Order: sequence, then C-alpha cells, then structure tokens
Amino acid sequence: MPLEINQVRASFFEALNNIKSLQELDELRVKFTGKKGDLTLLLRSLGKLPPDERRQAGQDVNNLRDEIENAIASMSKKIRDSENEKQEIQERIDITLPGRGRLSGAFHPVIQTMHEIANIMQGLGYSVASGPEIEEEFYNFECLNVPKWHPARDMQDTFYFPDGKLLRTHTSPVQIRSMLKYGAPLRIICPGKVYRRDNDTTHSPMFNQMEGLLIDKDVPFSQMKGTMSEMLNAFFGKSLKSRFRASYFPFTEPSMELDIECVECSGHDEHCRVCHGTGWLEVVGMGMVHPNVIRAGKIDPDEYNGFAFGIGLDRMAMLKYGISDLRLLFDGNVSYLNSCFNSGLEEVSC
Ligand SMILES: [Zn+2]
Repeated sequence: MPLEINQVRASFFEALNNIKSLQELDELRVKFTGKKGDLTLLLRSLGKLPPDERRQAGQDVNNLRDEIENAIASMSKKIRDSENEKQEIQERIDITLPGRGRLSGAFHPVIQTMHEIANIMQGLGYSVASGPEIEEEFYNFECLNVPKWHPARDMQDTFYFPDGKLLRTHTSPVQIRSMLKYGAPLRIICPGKVYRRDNDTTHSPMFNQMEGLLIDKDVPFSQMKGTMSEMLNAFFGKSLKSRFRASYFPFTEPSMELDIECVECSGHDEHCRVCHGTGWLEVVGMGMVHPNVIRAGKIDPDEYNGFAFGIGLDRMAMLKYGISDLRLLFDGNVSYLNSCFNSGLEEVSC
C-alpha cells in the first residue's frame, strides 16, 4: 500500500509540472480526486487492508489528498497570476507615447482680414450691415446712379438671372438698403462676396469687398481722408504714406482713389514684385456720396452728405500676408492655409 501511495504522488506531481492552463489543471484534478480518480480508488482500496495497516494507510492517503489539493490550489493561483500578467501587458497604455495631436480650425486669411478691418471700423463707430448676394438691378445699379446706358451694366461684367435679378457686382447696394432702413445719420460697413465676369490670374469671378458709408450733417472731405488713413495704418500696423488721386465712380462726386506706400519695399525697390517698382499700391476707391444716391436712400441731400469707400478684402489679405497669387485664396489647399497660420494669422479653437 505505501508503494501505491508513492506512485500516485509521483505520477500526480509529474503531470502537474506539465500543466499549462486552468483547463488542463481541472482535468488533472478530476483524474486524481474525481469519483473514479486514482486517489479515490486508493481510498476505496483501504477496506481490503488488514485492520492494523488500515489506520496508518488511511492517514497517509488523507495526507496525500491534502497535498494534492494544496498543490492544485497553488498551481491554479500561479496560472491565474500569469494570465493576468499577460493580459495587463496586452492592455497596457504607454503614457510616454507622444499624443496624436488635434487639428484645430482657423479663419481663412480673407475672413481674418475682414474681421480685422471690421474691428478697426467698429472702433470708429461703424456698425456691420449685410444684404443679399442675389440682388435687384434697382439696388445694384439704379439707386447708385448707374443709369441703363452705363457700360458697367454690360452683360460682360454682370451675371444676370433669367428673371432680371443679378449677382451683386459690389457691396454698394447695402448702402441703399441701410439708408432706407435706418435713415440718417448712419455709419456702416458691409463686408461680403461680390461677382463679376472676370477670370484671370489677378481677377476672380467671385471676390470679397468691404463697403463703408458715413452719412451725417456737414461731413468734411478731410474726415474721409482721415478715416481711411486711420484704418489702413491700424490694419498694417505702421504709419504709411498715402496719396489721393482723382478718379471716377458714378455713385460718388468727387471720387478718389487712395494709394499707400508699398508695404513690401516702401518705394525702395525698383524690381519689387508687389508694386512693380512704382512704390505705390492702390487700395481703396472712395468719394463723397453723390446726391442722387443719398436721394435714392430717401434722405435729403440738402441736409445730409457723407462719404463712401470700397476695399478689396482679397487684395488686402494678399498685401498683409505676402500672398502672391490670388488663386491661392480660393483653392482651399489645406497645407497652404496652414502655412498662413504659421505666419501669424490668429488661430481659433472650436
Ligand atoms: Zn514695392
């Protein structure tokens, strides 16, 4: 009998050494301690022993059973610990890895320019007004002193709809709409998209403009010049030389164009790619509002006068941010737009 106990013990521990999983361990448990297990058979065989040996053998078998149960419990814990460790390694998060980063939104250079100029003008007491891009001929031309025979009405310049409406060719109709809505006195700017039949390297069929209008009593010409200089100096962040040239617009009289010194070379580079050596840049068209336009806004031109101006926002963005090709503004090229933000445009987290 002691020999058989030792055989069972030896074969159990030999098998235990090869156990790799909880399932194998359970099969081993059944093989030794189950109803037909080796240990159970040993217990049953005790009855056949002579009484004087039976007591000692019973104690030995019980000891072996405790030994096996303890060994199984210990192995079970060992396997479980090892599996937990493997799982932890698989699921481990490496907090030292650099983050993936997030793309943050930002304003397009033209929109950024629009906001900057609007902020400056709001500081001078102007409100922001808006109007429809699909406009009536009446507001786009007639009210602005552009009669039917005017060349600007030519089909070459304007996109017309079959019903006679058109894509506004300038933001000036908002002047009329604002005068009709608010009356005088009035200080507004109207930024927005405008459309003309132009498409080459320096013209786009859609571009961005900002219109300004001031209507009040006894507005002097010098106020217009001062307002424009103030706005341009604030936008470019430095004091720029400027000059005013006589010009012609149907909706202002007298009409002027404002040139500023070249923001790139200040007139010191005859090969300058921005001013082409002239030292000057045309940036604003403006003038004292024509009495016919004031009248169209249902305001008495004998009592009120004022001035109006128009700025090309795309051109202003190009000048400020050193953009050489107008088409870059409309291509929607993300890497190009990102490069704009690296050069100092304000970034906005959404
Ligand atoms: Zn220049």
